[in-house]
Amino acid sequence: MNRVLVVLIAVFLTISEVLYSQKMLVQTQDKCFVYLTFDDGPLNGSENINDIILKEKIKISVFMVGEHVIKDKQMDTYAKYYDQNPYIDEYNHSFTHANDHYEAFYKDVDKSVKDILYNQTILKLPYKIVRLPGRNMWRLGGRSKNDVANGIQTADQLAALGYKVVGWDIEWQHRPVDGSPIQSVTEMYTAVQRLCTSDKTFTKNNVVMLIHDEMFQKNWEESELKQLIDVLRSNSNYIFEQMRFYPQ
Ligand SMILES: [Zn+2]
Repeated sequence: MNRVLVVLIAVFLTISEVLYSQKMLVQTQDKCFVYLTFDDGPLNGSENINDIILKEKIKISVFMVGEHVIKDKQMDTYAKYYDQNPYIDEYNHSFTHANDHYEAFYKDVDKSVKDILYNQTILKLPYKIVRLPGRNMWRLGGRSKNDVANGIQTADQLAALGYKVVGWDIEWQHRPVDGSPIQSVTEMYTAVQRLCTSDKTFTKNNVVMLIHDEMFQKNWEESELKQLIDVLRSNSNYIFEQMRFYPQ
């Protein structure tokens, strides 16, 4: 009889231990905020992004280039899709995108700042949040980070004007020829998992992914973007958020 009791107690203790350790595991797995951010739009591909986001209903951020919006009727229409999409926040990525001559653009500090302020006005952007073209720089809540020296003064001046300057933690790269993504969906998901538990992001438990508008020219069902969203949302620890909610 006593032996049965001892065995029962032992089993009970083992089960309690397992349950307790699992509970601890859940408690120590922090939530991770994932920011999908799209640069350079509107471009060919913006319409697909808009469709995917309307169907998936997740929050994203787009960094808009004014010169692309005014380029033609189609791009203006894509920009209007973004305006009307309740899951999309639009932020500033400069008017000219430095005409892709970054050195010269940032050397003339006044010109680069004016270009960004002009973009804010012409696109009627509601939030003072900017990503510098060609630069991964941060000015947020007194913290700062630079990738190169050229552009530092522009970032500082914008911060002094009340702008949040935001960069990124990881880029989903693309082939210049056709815009197709280089890393697979699995590679990107693994990278997010790694970053979520590391101290390699600008803010811990917050992962900002840089993506470009021209990357998703396939329709919704075949899109790698949809696949990435599906795999990210299958992990209940991940929360999609927009850059204006980034901690500071
Ligand atoms: Zn850009």
